[in-house]
Amino acid sequence: MGTPPLASDVCAGGGSAVWFSMNFCTLGSPVLLISFLFWLSLATPGAWAAGYETCPPVKPGMLNVHLLPHTHDDVGWLKTVDQYYYGILNDVQHASVQYILDSVIASLLENPTRRFIYVEMAFFSRWWKEQTNATQDVVRRLVHQGRLEFVNGGWVMNDEAATYYGAIVDQMTLGLRFLQDTFGSSGRPRVAWHIDPFGHSREQASLFAQMGFDGFFLGRIDYQDKVAREEKLKMEEVWRGSASLKPPTADLFTGVLPNNYNPPRNLCWDVLCADHPLVEDPKSPEFNAKTLVSYFLQLAYSQQQYYRTKHTVMTMGSDFQYENANMWFKNMDKLIRLVNKQQAEGSQVHVLYSTPSCYLWELNKANLTWSVKEDDFFPYADGPHMFWTGYFSSRPALKRYERLSYNFLQVCKQLEALAGPAATTGPYGSGDSAPLNEAMAVLQHHDAVSGTARQNVANDYARQLAAGWGPCEVLVSNALAMLSHEKQNFSFCRELNISICPVSQKSEHFQVTIYNPLGRKVQQMIRLPVNDGIFFVKDPNGKTVPSNVVMRPNSYSKRYQWDLLFPAFVPALGFSMYSVAKVTAATSQAYRLRARSKKSRSHVLFIENEYIRATFDSGTGLLMKIENMEQSLSLPVSQGFFWYNASTGDGKSSQASGAYIFRPNHLKPMPVSRWAQVHLVKTALVQEVHQNFSAWCSQVVRLYPGQRHLELEWMVGPIPVKDGWGKEVISRFDTPLKTQGEFYTDSNGREILKRRRNHRPTWRLNQTEPVAGNYYPVNTRIYISDGHTQLTVVTDRSQGGSSLQDGSLELMVHRRLLLDDGRGVQEPLMELGTGSTVLGRHLVLLSSVSDAAARHRLLAEKEILAPQVVLSQGGSSPYYYWAAPRTQFSALRQDLPPQVHLLTLARWGPKMLLLRLEHQFTATEDSGRKLSSPVTLNLQNLFQAFTITELQETTLAANQRLSEASRLKWMTDSGLISYPAPSKLDPTSVTLRPMEIRTFVARVKWQESS
Ligand SMILES: [Zn+2]
Repeated sequence: MGTPPLASDVCAGGGSAVWFSMNFCTLGSPVLLISFLFWLSLATPGAWAAGYETCPPVKPGMLNVHLLPHTHDDVGWLKTVDQYYYGILNDVQHASVQYILDSVIASLLENPTRRFIYVEMAFFSRWWKEQTNATQDVVRRLVHQGRLEFVNGGWVMNDEAATYYGAIVDQMTLGLRFLQDTFGSSGRPRVAWHIDPFGHSREQASLFAQMGFDGFFLGRIDYQDKVAREEKLKMEEVWRGSASLKPPTADLFTGVLPNNYNPPRNLCWDVLCADHPLVEDPKSPEFNAKTLVSYFLQLAYSQQQYYRTKHTVMTMGSDFQYENANMWFKNMDKLIRLVNKQQAEGSQVHVLYSTPSCYLWELNKANLTWSVKEDDFFPYADGPHMFWTGYFSSRPALKRYERLSYNFLQVCKQLEALAGPAATTGPYGSGDSAPLNEAMAVLQHHDAVSGTARQNVANDYARQLAAGWGPCEVLVSNALAMLSHEKQNFSFCRELNISICPVSQKSEHFQVTIYNPLGRKVQQMIRLPVNDGIFFVKDPNGKTVPSNVVMRPNSYSKRYQWDLLFPAFVPALGFSMYSVAKVTAATSQAYRLRARSKKSRSHVLFIENEYIRATFDSGTGLLMKIENMEQSLSLPVSQGFFWYNASTGDGKSSQASGAYIFRPNHLKPMPVSRWAQVHLVKTALVQEVHQNFSAWCSQVVRLYPGQRHLELEWMVGPIPVKDGWGKEVISRFDTPLKTQGEFYTDSNGREILKRRRNHRPTWRLNQTEPVAGNYYPVNTRIYISDGHTQLTVVTDRSQGGSSLQDGSLELMVHRRLLLDDGRGVQEPLMELGTGSTVLGRHLVLLSSVSDAAARHRLLAEKEILAPQVVLSQGGSSPYYYWAAPRTQFSALRQDLPPQVHLLTLARWGPKMLLLRLEHQFTATEDSGRKLSSPVTLNLQNLFQAFTITELQETTLAANQRLSEASRLKWMTDSGLISYPAPSKLDPTSVTLRPMEIRTFVARVKWQESS
């Protein structure tokens, strides 16, 4: 191991800087070839023909109008992904991606000056596979010449509000990998392109910068922000995506497009538009060339006045346009010719076919000094009373399924990396992480996890996830059998959320294998549905561990139902196997642990463990106080559920609340109930208060021993709407903390942004919606503090949240609406079937401010990458005849320090792994335990499941070697930025600075099991 030397024994690729010393020539599988070509393409930057040098010439001194022919192809919205691709249900929406690509390629060939950009690899990769070799060659040439340019290049154009950064990185990696494998460096996008997402997160800019993008173009920003930017000539700026990473690491040049992503008025020449084609025959009664040309010249000047250079762009295309590309190109050919002909008459306007990167290249060459933006673009409003803050919470069940699938996908990828080839081919069949990886990438689309697709499309997203789980379950089974040396009858309880698990409910004996995807050991309370009885649980060493059978919440009125609880210990990146045996079917012990009704008791109700006590008002049954005994903190906290009455439009605006938009009728929400019927459960292993607020709203407030947070497990739905009122349900925490209008929300689960009520950091807000206009996306956490005490709520999915009063904090958990909000989906968010009842968790931390980050960072990390429970029953057989079963395993030689998050461990090719390590603290947040300091790891000594023989560092999406990546440089008004040369990679000493992610492709050798 070490920095890989230049190869002397490579048999392909000539003398380029191939760094392998391994002998590739003898290994001939197609997968290997792809991975080899992948490396080759990374290693030859000089071969990158489709760089900025392929850009069309401009006319210096003139106003250059860059026409950007493009199509916006949603990966599901009104139709499913497949319906859009093939063009099925064109009566619902006329849209057929396969014909768009066919048509565009043919049109590009007709005229060498024409250009086109394409974005979504979920569609393009599908189309590519259907093409003949001859067409593929033609397309390769177009890409090479820069006439077909990929922008963004992710599998989808991801949402930015409801997405977790790990999933964004995964989906971008998948799309960019396809491009790299297919086109080499000439297919590598240089520009990020998020023209439709409904608001933009700062973390997205940071991630794009770290992926090596040179610039970023957006379509939708707040209408007031846009006016302010136009006035101040700040439509284009440098966005500083991180407060911790040293500039320019997370700096990204960002431009706001003039007309969202649509063509200028009267200039839409698609089969979906009704604008007049350009008629240049003066004898025709329809002759309009003269009018259109002078209109165009006027338009160019009026648009350019808001931008700083002699260049401006026009987005020539829109949703699913270019199915008949000839219509567009034929008219633009004429327009370009006629407008440029005016130059002979003294016109100073030059129009050309261009691409976003060619436009960006001109901006860069202008050599200006740009202002710096440090906040984000949330929330987005496209008019007064029109805040797109509803989708932060829309379809909460789908949002949870997506997050749970992220968790399982990481487990699946890790085990594929740890077990090597044995994971994909094993006793349970062919395992594969790719289907779930692709389904998860699709879910990141801005109409998928956002909850803004139609019901049948949302169902199809869930179907794709479910289909992806199957091959991963096979893979996990193969890997666990290999690593544990034991073939068991593994079973995955996918329906634990509704307390269904046939193995634990029906078997007298069963094994519980718990896999921990974190880089450090965890203690976890395992909870499984059982039929009543008494059970003995044994740990991996055969020692009995304490267990309880407790009554399940919400089962009082029916037949009692029971859960088995036992604490498990699982080593880092590994597993522990516990065995469970039913001793007797008697209910006596279980009966004693049944919940006791506390409704009419007068004494104070509380639950506690060694760290926390939560006190409840015995009159109302509501939470009243939280105490952190460790830090002697005590805070009155009342928590309850409320609902906003969804607006159906009023005198101020006809805007209704809908899938995208949140607009309550009143500022004050209604309580679901002013009191709760409560039951108390106290055993050695858990203390719970069960609160029943109404027939459709209940909650369990829970403490396990050793837990430093309070767990609130809520169940909401189906929300009743027979009264004709749409309802948007929140959980609200009220405290006396003096928070001065401020609160904090995370950005895609990574850095934290400070929010201030009725305020935007860079422009003056005229607030039209005091509730909806103060909502922000919460991906993993929201908190309030008075400078000393901090109340943090960690969520189990993305939700909208706010603090509408000092000391108060709320999260929208569910919504059901009777009207559509007029943004195209044309369907009210009713969620009649699955998804109407939602179970979720809020983890509440009370701590000192200095200690808070250490708590919430590690808690959120464990919530995102929770241990995976796999059951098995019946006998087992040995995996290797010579090896004894292994009931406990860790793939690490030692735990990672608390600063370090193992973001990615995945197969990358034969004998190759993708590894991402991240410092999960910001530069300033942990004053309590110095977790904000850099940390250094020895990668050579980290893993025991495999040995790293070679290591290469890449950009964040792994499509470029880091040492060869260079981004355009931009001067900013924030002072000089230094560009240090990348230091030599020493695998024995890899330092991570706060918030830094480092990405490596490693060649590995798996350990032989013995
Ligand atoms: Zn879209």
